[in-house]
Amino acid sequence: MAAKGLIFDIKRFSVNDGPGIRTTVFFKGCPLDCRWCHNPESQSCEPEPISVTRRLNGKEYQHQETVGKYMTVEEVMAELLKENIFHETSGGGVTFSGGEPLFQPEFLADLARACRTRNIHTCLDTSGYCDPCLFSRLIPLFDLFLYDIKIFDRDQHIQYTGYPNDEILANLRQLDKTGVPYIIRVPVIPGVNDDAESMNSLLTFTGSLGNPVKEVHFLPYHPLAFHKLENLGRTDKMDKSIRINESELHKFVIEFEQAGCKVKTGG
Ligand code: SF4
Repeated sequence: MAAKGLIFDIKRFSVNDGPGIRTTVFFKGCPLDCRWCHNPESQSCEPEPISVTRRLNGKEYQHQETVGKYMTVEEVMAELLKENIFHETSGGGVTFSGGEPLFQPEFLADLARACRTRNIHTCLDTSGYCDPCLFSRLIPLFDLFLYDIKIFDRDQHIQYTGYPNDEILANLRQLDKTGVPYIIRVPVIPGVNDDAESMNSLLTFTGSLGNPVKEVHFLPYHPLAFHKLENLGRTDKMDKSIRINESELHKFVIEFEQAGCKVKTGG
């Protein structure tokens, strides 16, 4: 059993990370470096200082906190079990997110097994960037995958995330063959993957998958990370003025629906 995992948040009453009411466990550490990362505090594999603003009696106070805490499986399970009544009554469960949970594979596997023994529904929210042999061993531990496909073009993927997407696509293909349910999630980033060519590549790839239930969630870019980056003492690599073209996105949604996909826009 992995001794401890690095967690940066445990969010209760989450309704956007899988079915029902869920508790989302955010793993800290990610191998990718997406320019638009909405959780920049999740990227480093170490606890790190963050500047936090608190309001008291109408005044604002700034102080330093540490983001990221080493926890045992038992400590995380104790938090999850407090919420179990909500999971059970809503058809929810636990979602592992990040960061990239697969970056701490032993701890993730131990947590998923602990949830299984308690009959807690488990969902893995992942970039899929992981050694395919390791990924295939972990697939059976989860009831549902929220699987990110960011960019189809390999060179562009390297340009915007720092790494190629070969393993990501290979891992989705092997997940597809297992029959374990998954939802494809696409962060829609203006000027990066919101053009017709990118969307057509995604649509063609989705059509080639064997899973008869093709569910795709589009997650439009919001410049939410700006303040977090400031608080971490880092600079934003994105142009804050860019915005999603809603009507263009709506056209893509219709194309995906016409191709038989179940589509949702937003978290
Ligand atoms: S995979 Fe997710 S957590 Fe990792 S850098 Fe990209 S957006 Fe951030």
